[in-house]
Amino acid sequence: MSDAKVIELAAHKAEGPKRKLVRPSGCKHLKVEIDEDAGVVLCLTCSKVIDPFVVLLGYAKEENFVFQDMIYWDEQTTELKVEAEKLRKEIRNLKAQKRRLIKTKAHIAL
Ligand SMILES: [Zn+2]
Repeated sequence: MSDAKVIELAAHKAEGPKRKLVRPSGCKHLKVEIDEDAGVVLCLTCSKVIDPFVVLLGYAKEENFVFQDMIYWDEQTTELKVEAEKLRKEIRNLKAQKRRLIKTKAHIAL
């Protein structure tokens, strides 16, 4: 059956052993490979065919975690910069106080 308006992808016509589409269970399918010829995503650990949506969703969640981490570390950096500035100011004040005390002590000794 051929319809000029329907485009058939070569990947879906590829022959090979029938593979069962599975949801993540047991194996977390952390390492995957895209088999472009067969048009499937394969788990490199358990060799099962993985639903591409599940893989895409995993990448999206991981990217979101990374983004949240970036926001957290950016806030931490800002807080540390404020703390560092407070400490620098305190050091300047202590040095000034030390100079005044030395000056006063020298005055008393005279
Ligand atoms: Zn797996």
